[in-house]
Amino acid sequence: MVKLRALKVTFLGTGTSQGIPVIGSNHPVCRSSDPRDKRLRVSVLIQVDGLNIVVDCGPDFRQQMLSNNVDRLDAILFTHEHSDHTVGLDDIRPYFFKQGDIPVFAHKRVMASLQKRFDYIFASENKYPGAPSVQEHVINNESFTVKGVKVMPINVMHNRVQVFGFRVRDFAYITDAKIIEEEEASKLKGVDVLVVNALRIEPHHSHFNLEEALKFIEKVNPKRAYLTHISHLLGFHEEVQAELPPNIFLAYDNLQIEI
Ligand SMILES: [Zn+2]
Ligand SMILES: [Zn+2]
Repeated sequence: MVKLRALKVTFLGTGTSQGIPVIGSNHPVCRSSDPRDKRLRVSVLIQVDGLNIVVDCGPDFRQQMLSNNVDRLDAILFTHEHSDHTVGLDDIRPYFFKQGDIPVFAHKRVMASLQKRFDYIFASENKYPGAPSVQEHVINNESFTVKGVKVMPINVMHNRVQVFGFRVRDFAYITDAKIIEEEEASKLKGVDVLVVNALRIEPHHSHFNLEEALKFIEKVNPKRAYLTHISHLLGFHEEVQAELPPNIFLAYDNLQIEI
């Protein structure tokens, strides 16, 4: 019997907060006909040991679950509370109806933000019929498990906002990072695949630009790296990809990789 690969990752969205195309924009990248230049808000599906783990739940969550036929949701891991990473939470309803309370993992500050935005989801009494419920798992900067699968958080800074990246086995996913301390970077030692954010060419106050992302990848030295949380200002997928080192790739929506 052929052994199934251990871990599969699907890039559900690879765009920055507004998505690409940006509404109303005439920028050439927004008008591109290359499907790789169309980017939903950033998220990944990690499939491991029969589990479907989704990182973040932004405004495109419903569409992302539909396009990838995700029929079961075992956990949502939240990186941070910004809208492009959280605002789709209401659309866990079909999973809730089938499976019951959906496990969500987040820093306590992020959980508090979710509780405020989605008070009806977190309500314990007088719940509106049809409102979904979640199983809350507050995480700190220590490894935790999702139904037996070990996940290691990596603490990064998004200007002044704390964000969690996540390592599962030899795959690591970091988005919305601007500063990553040595100690946290050392948790990435030995990864096969590193995903990291690269917003655009010009510097930005809270995101790695391309140069910073490449520098960080060089330091971690994974076998392969993928860039995500991309703005239209980074340029056309094809042109940017052509300039990258051979083991570094621009991710694009619906790309699947195995680790
Ligand atoms: Zn973001
Ligand atoms: Zn953010």
